[in-house]
Order: sequence, then structure tokens, then C-alpha cells
Amino acid sequence: MKKTSTRLADGRELLYYDSRDDAVRDAVDPRPLDPVATTAQIRHDPLLGDRVAVASHRQARTYHPPADECPLCPSRDGRHSEIPAAAYDVAVFENRFPSLAGDAGRCEVVCFTSDHDASFADLTEERAGLVLEAWTDRTAELAGLPGVRQVFCFENRGAEIGVTLGHPHGQIYAYPFVTPRTDLMLRSVAAHLARTGRNLFDDVVARECAEGARVVLEGEHWVAFVPYAAHWPYEVHLYPRRRVRDLRELDDGARTEFPRLYLELLRRFDRIFGPGEPPTPYISAWHQAPFGLSDFAPEFALHLELFTVRRTSGKLKFLAGSESGMNVFINDVPPETAAARLREVASE
Ligand SMILES: [Zn+2]
Repeated sequence: MKKTSTRLADGRELLYYDSRDDAVRDAVDPRPLDPVATTAQIRHDPLLGDRVAVASHRQARTYHPPADECPLCPSRDGRHSEIPAAAYDVAVFENRFPSLAGDAGRCEVVCFTSDHDASFADLTEERAGLVLEAWTDRTAELAGLPGVRQVFCFENRGAEIGVTLGHPHGQIYAYPFVTPRTDLMLRSVAAHLARTGRNLFDDVVARECAEGARVVLEGEHWVAFVPYAAHWPYEVHLYPRRRVRDLRELDDGARTEFPRLYLELLRRFDRIFGPGEPPTPYISAWHQAPFGLSDFAPEFALHLELFTVRRTSGKLKFLAGSESGMNVFINDVPPETAAARLREVASE
């Protein structure tokens, strides 16, 4: 793997991750770009104790551009995009329309391939492995920025999720605080440790493996299951068998096996609703331990949560009254049924 760090015309950082060690990345961004003006602001909600990123500059962001104006395609035929190279493997750059910026964190875009019409599930294992390297490298680098407490690598796929660019890409948010979901998990971990002397993540994974009804896929180094209390119609959690806090701590065995298992999960997701159905919209989210002051962060377990908001052919799960108003999820698909379906649609 070769990593090359460059700058876009407005000073934002652009990084290339190449499979080939002799890749040369010297294309210059010729666009006359104004410096990025961000107004990102973190506001604290005194009742809920959580935070909201207010980012009014995002209203002007690129919204469903035609394919020939895609800002994530390589720069070709006299058209200049966010990526000056004429082709690339994996490219990462600072978002021009960040939700978090300056002292309030950082947002990056991760392009998985030059191919506008592909999706993550179409990538080769080698390329998926390169994306894993890029996520790992970004986690290490962003962890070192002053004020960053947590790094979140994720992919939103599908217009139903609100994706405004069709090009296969994900994002990385570096938050200047511990996110509420991670904080909740760490509280549960602390309570479980005090009560039993054991690690909660270890117990959850062991229970799923022992029961088996919700296990979807097992490898030597990873296991994937639908959680007992899944919130979403189809939701899979993927854990390395050896518990680690974040991507940086994965061993070679887990790194090598990850692409095959993850690609298989994504391909199964596209088959859940049967042939002829448009690609399944999904959110794929890496949960990593926060850095710095959290007492129980060493007990955190890196894992990936993959879920879709589609509940049946042509119908979406909306976060309506109970979910949005009270944070109580109503799931119409029993987790055991979802797991059975995800086993049924395995690749031949
Ligand atoms: Zn594109």
C-alpha cells in the first residue's frame, strides 16, 4: 500500500491510497476555489445532554448532480472534480461542506473506486482490503489531532438514506466529544463489569454464538449476527473474535479475512428482498472506542453495525412517533427471521 498526501486548491487535504507501491500522484488541482467558509457549530442540549452540529453552509452542498458532473469521479477530459488524478484506487479528502470543522472536529470523504456506477459490494477483495487500510490510517491520524475524541467511519448507501451523490463513497467524522451511543455502551459495559467482573461485549458475542439462531456468518477471525434486540428490520453486527478497541489494533488474520466476509454481507443485503428489487439502501457504521478521558474505553469492542431502513419490498422503515419522539424502536421483522433470511441468501 502506498499513501500520498496532497492539497486541493483551497488547501483541503487529499490523500491517495494505492495498491501499487510505485503509484505516482502528482496531479495538481487547477480549480479557482475560494477558501472553505464553514459555520459549523456544536450546541449542547441542556435537557437531553447531547449535542447538535449546526452547519448552515451545508444547505449549498452539491445535491444529486448528473453523472458527468460528479465531484467524486476522477478528473478527465478537461473536467475537474475533487480528485485531480485521471484514475485512483482509494481517495480521501476533507469535505468541502463539513458538518464538523475547525475546533468542532473534521469530516472526510472516502471514495472507494474511480468507477461511478459501482457499489462497495462490487469491489474486489483487494480493493476492500485497501479501504480497510485507509479507514485504519485515518483513525490513527485523526486520533492524533488536538481535541478529537472519537473517529467514526461509515457509509450511507442509497437515495433512501439521503445520499446526495451516487458515486460509491463513505465518510469519516472526527468528533470533539464522545457520541451519545458510545457513551451509553460504555455505561452498560461499566455496569456489567461491576456486576459480573466480565466484559459485556465478550458476553454478548459468546451468547449469540452459543444460541446460534441469529448468527449470519462466521469466519476464523470474525462473527456476524443479528442482535437479540435489533432496532432495524435487517441489522447485522460484525465483531472480530479477538476483542480490540479500534481498527488500529486488528491483527493480520482479522485484516486479511475482513474483505471476504464484509463483501459477502453486503451482497446478501442486496438479495434480501429478492430479484428485481433496487439495491438495498443501508448504513454501515464502525463503532470504535473513544480516545482520552473515558475510563471504560479499554473495555470497548470495535465492531461494525450494518442495517437497512427497508423493511419489505418498496417500503421503508421511518423513524416516526415512537422512534423519533421517544427513542423507542418498533421492529416489524423478528431478529431470528431476519437472520434466517440472511443465511438463505448466501452466495453459492
Ligand atoms: Zn462519480
